[in-house]
Amino acid sequence: MIRLDPPGAVRWIARTLEEAGYETWAVGGAVRDALLDRASSDWDLATRARPEVMRRLFRRTVPIGVDHGTVGILDRQGSMYEVTTFRKDVETTGRHAVVSFADTLEEDLARRDFTINAVAWHPLEARLFDPFEGASDLDRRVLRTVGTPGDRFAEDYLRVLRALRFAGRFRLTVDPESWSALCAAVPKMGRLSAERVREELEKVLSGSEPPSAALGLYAGSGALAFLYPEVDRLVGTGGVSGRGEAPVRIGPPPEGAAAAERWGATLRAVDLLAGSPWELRMAALLHAVGVPAAGAVDPDPAPPDTSEGERATLRALAIMTRLRASNARIGRVAAWVGGCADPPAPEGGPAARRRWLARVGREDAPGALRLWAALHRAYRMSGPSVPPGSGDVDRAATFLHGLRGELRSGTPLSEKELAISGRDLIRMGYRPGPEFGVVFRRLLDAVIEDPERNDPDRLIEDARRMLEEMGGEP
Ligand code: ATP
Ligand code: MG
Repeated sequence: MIRLDPPGAVRWIARTLEEAGYETWAVGGAVRDALLDRASSDWDLATRARPEVMRRLFRRTVPIGVDHGTVGILDRQGSMYEVTTFRKDVETTGRHAVVSFADTLEEDLARRDFTINAVAWHPLEARLFDPFEGASDLDRRVLRTVGTPGDRFAEDYLRVLRALRFAGRFRLTVDPESWSALCAAVPKMGRLSAERVREELEKVLSGSEPPSAALGLYAGSGALAFLYPEVDRLVGTGGVSGRGEAPVRIGPPPEGAAAAERWGATLRAVDLLAGSPWELRMAALLHAVGVPAAGAVDPDPAPPDTSEGERATLRALAIMTRLRASNARIGRVAAWVGGCADPPAPEGGPAARRRWLARVGREDAPGALRLWAALHRAYRMSGPSVPPGSGDVDRAATFLHGLRGELRSGTPLSEKELAISGRDLIRMGYRPGPEFGVVFRRLLDAVIEDPERNDPDRLIEDARRMLEEMGGEP
């Protein structure tokens, strides 16, 4: 008897199906997590019953993926459980596996990616069915594919990234045979959809577990170089290797000692941002992509006068666009990366701080400050140097205090926040046109220099003068 502790609804669903004559098991992540003594939110079930049977037996169901055999069953509290008909792989493309219904649980478990994800537990009899010895792999803390590793990765190359994520999250060692097949499969990941690749990284960055372990494995396996070469440039030669073997290296050579330190600080900053949205951790991961590569061929040679901040922004935009993130997310991550790569000079005073806040944007500024603080702590922990772009700023706390103060002071940071709007100019008789844009940009610049100027009468006077200079007539 193996006691796991699923919600009562899992037993109720299994009992209902079993009493109607359909074998039903708990499978996948929840069983794995329970064996590891970790709480799991999603209890998935596998059953011999077909979707139409499930929908007949239960009152409240949601057709999640009926063609693929998945029905959502709602309990009395409205919590949903995914119940899926036993399936087997019929065709594989490398992009994803195509499945059809199967007759036995064993077939269903055989199509699952790793032994630790292929353990079934019977909710009524409280016994395991574990033909691939996933429970003992969990005990030994080993990650291993179900079946021949090379074949299993070739069926769906996303399993490469899933392996790195699970090994990182649960601190597992990848079995040698699986590890070499995994590394060999890395260059084939180009056929995966950008969305699936991004969702994997999102999961690494969102977990309650420090992402550094999985990210270290990304680097050690060559997946980082393949998918995120701009970040891989930071990995020093002495960096983390997957299983203690020589990492497979693809792409331009690393920058040496300074880079190793930068990669270490990057990982630490990502870990320090626990509880932050994944995008902020993504910005930490990308914070140094604007650093010019010494001796390495630059992937996107920017003009020589491009600042580190601009280069970082451009690369962050490119990476997030490549991952097909939403426009809002692309913009946010780029603002964070660019802002932290190009912080205000400490001697620039309050106006420089406001200019920086205006560039990052009020909405994204609190995140940028959190990122900045995490980067500073991370670099402090790894040695004497400071994050790229921060010059010799060593008084991070004072610096942050000043920025937070400016943010709270209510000084306008955008044209919308000025004491007058386009409507005031229209009321004065001016006709809206491109001049308005020029005027408001200049008014904002002036107010950021000197917040006293944000007075409606003064702004109207200033606007009138500017419009007259441009030949406008009321
Ligand atoms: P997580 O905590 O990330 O949700 P999980 O193990 O529940 O982990 P899911 O992606 O929710 O992962 O998938 C549920 C189960 O389906 C897995 O445990 C595994 O058995 C199987 N599975 C999911 N994706 C794949 C895949 N790409 N190849 C093979 N089996 C997979
Ligand atoms: Mg899951």
